[in-house]
Amino acid sequence: MQPSAETVEVAASKLMEWYARHKRQFPWRVGMRDDWRVLVTAFLLRKTRAETVAKHYDKVLAALSSPEKVLELGVEGVEEVLKPLGLHRVRARQLYGLAKALAEGRGGRLPGVGPYTEALVRCLSRGELVPAVDVNVQRVVARLFGVGDRRRVGELASQLVKAAGTCELNLAVMDLAALVCRARKPRCGECPLAAYCAHARTQRS
Ligand code: SF4
Repeated sequence: MQPSAETVEVAASKLMEWYARHKRQFPWRVGMRDDWRVLVTAFLLRKTRAETVAKHYDKVLAALSSPEKVLELGVEGVEEVLKPLGLHRVRARQLYGLAKALAEGRGGRLPGVGPYTEALVRCLSRGELVPAVDVNVQRVVARLFGVGDRRRVGELASQLVKAAGTCELNLAVMDLAALVCRARKPRCGECPLAAYCAHARTQRS
């Protein structure tokens, strides 16, 4: 079912109110307006807990501050930098490949950069009002609006971002997914969206 524009607007507004009070503080959320920084952060956060990345973030970013710096270090040097985070061999090769493509000014899709990471760059670095839908955002939006189809979830996530008027809505949904709308046992009693949520409604009836 298509939610009304008013429902989408109210949900976006409730979510942003909640986010203002509960947002998680991570070092990468300060001064994100830089494509490279967003890309490296997205690479680091793949398959690694945010809390673990946060512990090493400043040091890693200082060492890998630009594509040129990565090329200068070489794959082995990048591996050394990434060791504390694990998966360093794979990640070093990925980052090196990405740095090389950027330095060569290659067009088209960058290596290792899928639609989600691309959306993060457009949103967090360039401020475009686009949704960034990973598995967690997918879960929240699917539950909220009672839809399962990935394309439909993307459309509704896009409507939420536009209704909020800020791409920070993406971060709000990510935080809600981590803190409240968890994969198992969502905490609907603490959720700012409970009054509008299709999933919560089915639990009540
Ligand atoms: S009400 Fe429950 S299911 Fe719905 S978005 Fe909130 S936590 Fe998730």
